[in-house]
Amino acid sequence: MIDLHSVSFRYRQDWVLREISFQIRKGEFIGVIGPNGSGKSTLLKTLCRLLTPQKGEILLDLVPLKEMSQGEIARKIAVVPQEAYSLFPFRVIEMVLMGRSPHLGRLMFEGARDLEIAKKAMEWTETLPIGERLIDELSGGERKRVFIARALVQEPEVILLDEPTANLDIHHQVDFLELILNLNREKGLTIAMASHDLNIASEYCDRLILLQGGTIFKIGSPREVITRANIEKVYGCRVWVDENPISGMPRITLLKKGVRSVLTEV
Ligand code: ADP
Repeated sequence: MIDLHSVSFRYRQDWVLREISFQIRKGEFIGVIGPNGSGKSTLLKTLCRLLTPQKGEILLDLVPLKEMSQGEIARKIAVVPQEAYSLFPFRVIEMVLMGRSPHLGRLMFEGARDLEIAKKAMEWTETLPIGERLIDELSGGERKRVFIARALVQEPEVILLDEPTANLDIHHQVDFLELILNLNREKGLTIAMASHDLNIASEYCDRLILLQGGTIFKIGSPREVITRANIEKVYGCRVWVDENPISGMPRITLLKKGVRSVLTEV
């Protein structure tokens, strides 16, 4: 669905993404992991042309992204940003309806169908009861759900999520991830999610891209990517990797510095 060919990007002189090539398949849930500054957010931004790579090419359903209008892109790709704040005190329903704008003609207002789509998205994300509240007066978890609702009313095929679970407590992390997983499994939406939480990435994603300094260090299934050697090399700290006893997926445990555990001999 999305094809990257030797994509390189720089903000100023230093390349932040270098020669990135991979494909995102229709209906997959792909995770982008890597240390701070490794290029995760920048990569997501190039996928929806918030940033345009200076080198290489990105194809969306075989069409070069740079030949598409922002409206065309927005009808296929929705973005849930990392910091889901708004500058103006919009009500939740207004914020959600903004997601319809790629489908409206110039100077057109939302009609009954748009309101119906918004209502459905708000039911899905359980934001209907807070529809009249101001966006800035919500908790972090509620606000994230509103931004998912806004993404859904775009009726996209792909949702890009940047650190969606940052600042959420574990209850809200699980709720949020289940919502995303349902969208992926039930509605067939393609999901690309940047995450700092390696255990979450391991549990929820079909495939992971591990970035290091703007290049792909490893791409593959969580089992192929989340190994002790890969994580220690890229993050530069000691970890222990075993299996989550319930799911069987790789599980990371952080090791305190100076601990001479039996694990180091394993
Ligand atoms: P990550 O999401 O993995 O933490 P980013 O994509 O945010 O990484 O950043 C990658 C690199 O690009 C970092 O070195 C960062 O300092 C730099 N960078 C990010 N945003 C900007 C910007 N707007 N202007 C200049 N440099 C930036």
